[in-house]
Amino acid sequence: MRVGVLSLQGAFREHLGVLDSLGVSSSKVTRPEHLDSIDSLIVPGGESSAMVRIAAGTGLFPTLSDKIQSGLPIFGTCAGLILLADRLTDDSLDGFDRLGGLDITVARNAYGRQRESFSTPVHVSGFAEDFEATFIRAPQIMEHGDDVEVLAEHDGSPVLVRQGNIWGGSFHPELGADTRIHREFLHSLSVTV
Ligand code: GLN
Repeated sequence: MRVGVLSLQGAFREHLGVLDSLGVSSSKVTRPEHLDSIDSLIVPGGESSAMVRIAAGTGLFPTLSDKIQSGLPIFGTCAGLILLADRLTDDSLDGFDRLGGLDITVARNAYGRQRESFSTPVHVSGFAEDFEATFIRAPQIMEHGDDVEVLAEHDGSPVLVRQGNIWGGSFHPELGADTRIHREFLHSLSVTV
């Protein structure tokens, strides 16, 4: 079992660090051929508008989209959630390949600017204790389809969701020492960590 981390930009090193600390094999994904050697993928936070520009013309996102449709387990956080969303409330990424697959509508930067970043405890379904979630220029999930399972909410909005093989979170689960969300995703892949 090898977990890829999309490593075009953003917090990919932090995700690789978490996987390392859990003893899970991982590899960076920057080109379509890298997808051949992974069993699942994490798409980190960062800046979605930069990621779509870096990926443009490489064929990476169209190939990845097909793999997601075929069932590749994938977890997008923050900018990664934006890439996986079927719909955005604005047209800022129009004209670029994204990924899609998650039946949600997302508003970019809806939780405020960089200096308005915050951490707050959220209850995650199945967790005995709250998870301290860090929001950095985070996207807000404005609506979701019936097939989307809400695993955590903040202020009445979903902040961690799952639709079959596709997981998405508004916040950054890789910051801090609490690896429970990564472990939950890995458990869904039948990896014991
Ligand atoms: N605001 C960023 C974007 O639109 C996402 C922020 C993040 O990933 N922390 O891509």
